[in-house]
Amino acid sequence: MRRRQFLKMSCVLGAGVALCGLGVDLVPIEAWADEIKKIDRLKSARQTMSVCCYCSVGCGLICATDEKTGKIINIEGDPEHPVSEGSLCAKGAGIFQTTEANEHRLTKVLYRAPNSDKWEEKSWDWAIDRIARLMKEERDKSFITKNAAGQVVNRVETLAHMGSSNLDNEECWSITAWARSLGLVYIDHQARV
Ligand code: SF4
Repeated sequence: MRRRQFLKMSCVLGAGVALCGLGVDLVPIEAWADEIKKIDRLKSARQTMSVCCYCSVGCGLICATDEKTGKIINIEGDPEHPVSEGSLCAKGAGIFQTTEANEHRLTKVLYRAPNSDKWEEKSWDWAIDRIARLMKEERDKSFITKNAAGQVVNRVETLAHMGSSNLDNEECWSITAWARSLGLVYIDHQARV
């Protein structure tokens, strides 16, 4: 930390202690102090150029990695990228939140049964099996071979597929092909909605 920043931090903390005694909310001051710490860590971090994986625009990213821990500590738009010039849409701007730095990132299957107010932890095998079984039951029940005019349509109108904003182009393509092969016609993507 540089001397100027140290002095700034000292002033902030000193003022913080005084304000705390007066019952003032210190959360914004703490957030600002965290930002200063983060700027310092970024200055010594290794920078790697990358490209956002989510769509064909291919916006440029700068990934900052802490040399000591080897962990990504920040991802932001690359101002020198010829296409995006540093800007990112909401998906690209949130890409850092998908890394392990986000302690709120979901890492396990949580299931809430119908009419229940409790979440239960389940395995991926359990979830995939349940989804497949429910889809098959619904498809067997509701598959439409012909429409009212007698034309062959081979579709299911009671199932829909919503893609996650974390899907990239290739994943979207294969999921769409898979969903169409089952006869789904309602297929959408969270980023479009
Ligand atoms: S998803 Fe957004 S940030 Fe990523 S490449 Fe496309 S436009 Fe750029």
